[in-house]
Amino acid sequence: MKRIEVGTLVICDFCGQENDSMGGVLIGSNAVCGVCVDKDGKDKPDYIYADEVDKIFDKKKTFKDNVLAYRKEMSGTERGWIEIWGEEELN
Ligand SMILES: [Zn+2]
Repeated sequence: MKRIEVGTLVICDFCGQENDSMGGVLIGSNAVCGVCVDKDGKDKPDYIYADEVDKIFDKKKTFKDNVLAYRKEMSGTERGWIEIWGEEELN
């Protein structure tokens, strides 16, 4: 497994975009941007997978600020990383 430092870059794990959307949610270890959240109302209590949503971020703050604050809360730093599995490990 490769661990790639991404610094303070915040990318939505659903659409792969870095954007200025507001809010966002956390589903497991996936950070989901405000655009994807609004598509099917992932932050609403009647969302069909509402029980899989671990955290609903503050809609008054940007997705990026929310994720950075969350990273800092969890790991003590705003700098994040992504983990990539190599083919040899998947076989
Ligand atoms: Zn997205």
